[in-house]
Amino acid sequence: FVLLCPEFWGDVAEDFFWKTKYTGKFLDYNFDVTKETFLIFTNLGKLNLLNIFVETVNNYCCLMRVIFLGVVLDREGNEPGDEKTVTYRELLQQVCKFANVLKSQGVKKGDRVSIYMPMVVELVVAMLACARIGAVHAIVVPWNPEVDLCWHSLIGGASEECEPVWCDSEDPLFILYTSGSTGKPKGVLHTVSGYMLYTAATFKLVFDYHSDDVYWCTADIGWITGHSYITYGPLANGATSVLFEGLPTYPDVSRMWEIVDKYHVSKFYTAPTAIRLLMKYGSEPVQKYNRTSLKILGTVGEPINPEAWQWYYSVVGEKRCPVVDTFWQTETGGHVMTPLPAATPMKPGSATFPFFGVVPAILNESGEELEGPSEGYLVFKQPWPGVMRTVYGNHERFETTYFKKFPGFYVTGDGCRRDKDGYYWITGRIDDMLNVSGHLLSTAEVESALVEHEAVAEAAVVGRPHPVKGESLYCFVTLNDGINYNQKLEVELKKQVREKIGAIATPDYIQNAPGLPKTRSGKIMRRVLRKIACNEQDLGDVSTLADSSVIEQLFENRYFYDCKKKQMLIT
Ligand code: AMP
Repeated sequence: FVLLCPEFWGDVAEDFFWKTKYTGKFLDYNFDVTKETFLIFTNLGKLNLLNIFVETVNNYCCLMRVIFLGVVLDREGNEPGDEKTVTYRELLQQVCKFANVLKSQGVKKGDRVSIYMPMVVELVVAMLACARIGAVHAIVVPWNPEVDLCWHSLIGGASEECEPVWCDSEDPLFILYTSGSTGKPKGVLHTVSGYMLYTAATFKLVFDYHSDDVYWCTADIGWITGHSYITYGPLANGATSVLFEGLPTYPDVSRMWEIVDKYHVSKFYTAPTAIRLLMKYGSEPVQKYNRTSLKILGTVGEPINPEAWQWYYSVVGEKRCPVVDTFWQTETGGHVMTPLPAATPMKPGSATFPFFGVVPAILNESGEELEGPSEGYLVFKQPWPGVMRTVYGNHERFETTYFKKFPGFYVTGDGCRRDKDGYYWITGRIDDMLNVSGHLLSTAEVESALVEHEAVAEAAVVGRPHPVKGESLYCFVTLNDGINYNQKLEVELKKQVREKIGAIATPDYIQNAPGLPKTRSGKIMRRVLRKIACNEQDLGDVSTLADSSVIEQLFENRYFYDCKKKQMLIT
């Protein structure tokens, strides 16, 4: 076992209230599944997460601004102007009330509580109420009338006082099902102390948080980004946040920038998919608002193609706001590879370097560690406090998924390239890699070449079995507003990819895709696109798909352009 950075994490822990402080070893692990004791462990003492809010009420009296838009429980509040402000004190009162409701329903420490709610402040309250009494929350998709209970019928007369239940460092905090962009969702389990320290520290340093900041993360709370960087990280720092439920394009495509100006947002965090969506409409809707409050722009969720990065940096941030491209996963709990704003020289499209205490490596297929400029599997050599502890109810799946392929390393499942300056570039999920005539191509690389064309807003590339090449390239492209798909454009796109990457990457098929299948967190579900490319109707588990109407449309639009016969075949 190795002792890891106890001084650094010990200092971070000093900012919080511990009922009983830790003694002895701080962080222990063994990543080698072939050895007997396989574990990850953070020993910090007894903590209740909610104590941080008591402290915050006393010390800072920060506000949490909340705007409700789009669909709320009763389907009202769809219009701009429907807004609400919640103070930390009110938040704490509501949390206690709901914690009492949970207790009255017989919920105890260690019980699992499923929450099914839209992006409303009550969702944050429900999560924190679980933390208050040591219950484990899990945010889920379908509502089950047999067992689920409605908020309004429960909250009425509940008391505003509720003593916290003290938890051990390693007690579970929540279970979150991964996005399922690559297969059946896994219940990722995070624990109380390590997760809190990690989200608090990354939030503070990566967004360079100061007490006068107004922070806005556009993610859905049902995704890990909403857990770590809407709920726990910002609240642990006493931050003032904007919570937004609604469409970035409603009532018009300037909506995001209108909100930035209205609340003087200084730190803004979103996903490449949202950036590409807004980019489609050009810079004019952005420039309608002045955005002078903005200081740092963040991105998360997928590799950001340099084209979108440049637009974000130049148009949205007017070249004065550092862009933090944060690479992380549900499993990692918080940012693991990221620039630190103004301290790390940026390269568009690179998540740059590891966060403190994170030790990455790049391995080849035989598990050998590569030095210097190289490309291969991204792995981590040691844990950090916020890393997941297990797959809920299936520890074997945890070992098999993350540790079996390369014993001694945590395997991210992502491909990665390290350049001559030591910068890391995430190339996408290894399962999505394309193997064309023995050449491995990353989806990010081909998609980026397509998106560089002025007609293309977004692209997704998958492999389609080919008798000679092994795999052929099947590309789905979403075009910019007002552009029509035609054969001339198709020829141009093929030429563009060939010139940027090489003949081996020339697309075999290009399909016009007005919409792409995405998870609720905005990730493209390439495994679904692979099925569409092969005209297979059985799509597997699509429970995490955000909008299923896209699928129908893609099947309808599907066509093959047969190069030899020079004709379109509608299937
Ligand atoms: P999830 O657990 O659903 O948040 O998905 C995690 C996956 O999203 C990672 O394994 C990456 O494939 C991808 N991802 C997240 N952030 C980034 C980023 N900044 N750059 C590249 N890929 C990212």
